[in-house]
Amino acid sequence: MKYTSTRGKVPACGFIDTFLMGLGDDGGLMIPATIPAISSQTLAEWQRLSFQDLMLAVFSLYTNDEIPAEDLKDLVYTSYAGFRSPEVLPLTKLNDSLYILELFHGPTFAFKDVALQLMGNLYAYVAKKQNKVINILGATSGDTGAAAISGVRGKEGIQICILHPHEKVSRVQELQMTTVQDDNVLNLSVKGNFDDCQGIIKELFADLEFKNKYHLRAINSINFVRILAQSVYYFYAYLQLPEGVRAGGVNFSIPTGNFGNIFSGYLAKRMGLPINKLILATNENNILQRFVHDGIYMPDKFHSTYSPSMDIQIASNFERYLYYLCDEDANEVAERMERFKAEGRLEFNEAEREKILSDFGAHSVNGAECLNTIQAYKDRYDYLLDPHTACGIAAAEADRKDKLTVSLATAHPAKFDEAIRLCGIKQSFPEAVRELFDKPQRQVVLDNNKEDIVEQLVRFYPAD
Ligand SMILES: *Cc1c(COP(=O)(O)O)cnc(C)c1O
Repeated sequence: MKYTSTRGKVPACGFIDTFLMGLGDDGGLMIPATIPAISSQTLAEWQRLSFQDLMLAVFSLYTNDEIPAEDLKDLVYTSYAGFRSPEVLPLTKLNDSLYILELFHGPTFAFKDVALQLMGNLYAYVAKKQNKVINILGATSGDTGAAAISGVRGKEGIQICILHPHEKVSRVQELQMTTVQDDNVLNLSVKGNFDDCQGIIKELFADLEFKNKYHLRAINSINFVRILAQSVYYFYAYLQLPEGVRAGGVNFSIPTGNFGNIFSGYLAKRMGLPINKLILATNENNILQRFVHDGIYMPDKFHSTYSPSMDIQIASNFERYLYYLCDEDANEVAERMERFKAEGRLEFNEAEREKILSDFGAHSVNGAECLNTIQAYKDRYDYLLDPHTACGIAAAEADRKDKLTVSLATAHPAKFDEAIRLCGIKQSFPEAVRELFDKPQRQVVLDNNKEDIVEQLVRFYPAD
C-alpha cells in the first residue's frame, strides 16, 4: 500500500513515512492510493474477533509489513490493556433501533484514547527502531490533548507540545492536560479559540524548513493513522449487532467537530462495511450540517457551547471527503482549496449535492436540545449522556427515527459536568477524575500570536 496526498504533489510513500509526515508536504492530507475492499466473506470471518484482533486484521491491510506482525500485535495489545471495559468499546442497546457504542473507557475518558494510545506506542516504537526524533505538536479543543499526552508522557525519545484555547475547554479537560508533570510535556494555553490554535499548527506544519528542522509530528486527525485506527470500531460495532438486526445495513450517528471520526466511518463504508448513512451531528458551530443540507461550505461566527470539543468551524478532514467527492482528482481538490482560501466558501453543484446527501444525514443541535436530550435519556433509560454524545443522539432521533442506528458515545459525562449540572443532575465522578482536582497545574498562557508560540517551541524541542 502506498500513500499519496489529496493535492497530488507528494511522492508515493509507505505507512511509517505517512505516519511521520502527518500533514502532506504539499499542504494536503495523506490518503491510501487505493482503499482495500473487504468482501462479505472476509467480514463474516471477522465476526468473532476481539477488538484488538479486528484492529490487527484491518491494520495488516495498510502497513505493508513495515511493522513485523509480532511487533504490531504487541503494540495493539499494550495500547488497550489500560481500558476499563473488557470489551474495550462496549455496545449498549437502548431500544430496538438505537444502540450506543461507548468509546470512552480509555485513560482520559474520551474516544480520542482509542487512536492515541496506539499512536503514542507507535511513536515510541519508531523512535527506538529507526532512531527518529519525535517532537509531537498538536492543537486540541480539549480531548485530543489529554489523550495524546496520556499516550506519550514519560516515554523516551518523545517530546509533546499541545496548544489549547485558554478557558475554552472544560475544567476536567484542562486538568487532565495540565496536571501532568513529566518533563517531556509542554502545555500552551492560547488566548483564542480552537480554530486559531489549529491554524497556527497548520502553518508550522506547512513550513517544511521548520517542520523538518524540529522533526514535527502530528497527532491530530490530519494524521491518517488516527483515521485508520478509528475506522476499526465501525466494523466492531457492526459485528456486535445480531445478524438479523443488521441485515438491512446500519446507520451511524457521529458527534462531529474536525470531521475526523465521521471520516473514519466513511473510510469503513468505502472498504465495504454496509453503512447506510453517516449522520453528522453538530452543535451551533454548524458549518458541516449546512454543507450537507445547503451544498455550501462556509465558516460562520464562532460559538462557545456545552460541547466544547465540537466548537470548530474549519474542519481539517473535510478535504479528505472532498477528494472522494471529486472522484479522486487531486488537481481539482488543490484548485478548490485555493478557491476556498481566497473566497472563504465553496459551493457544490446539483450532482455533488445528491452524492453528499446519499452519504450523510445531518442535524445541528442547539444548547436547549442538547440539555433536553440529556434529561430525557436519564429519565427514560437511566443512561447519562455527555453533551457531545447527546448531540449525536438528538441527531439520530431527528434524522433516522426508528431506523437502526448506532450512536457513538464520544466522552464520559464526568468530563463535562458543567452541562450535566445545568440539567439538575448530580453525578459521581470516577476516582481518576476526582483526584485531578488536588493536583498542581503546569502550563504557559500565551497571546494568540505565532511568534510567541514559536519561541516556546524552539526552547522546548531538541533540533538538529
Ligand atoms: C473530538 C471530539 C469530537 C469531535 O470529533 P472529530 O473527530 O473532531 O469530528 C466529538 N466529541 C468529543 C467528546 C470529542 O472529544
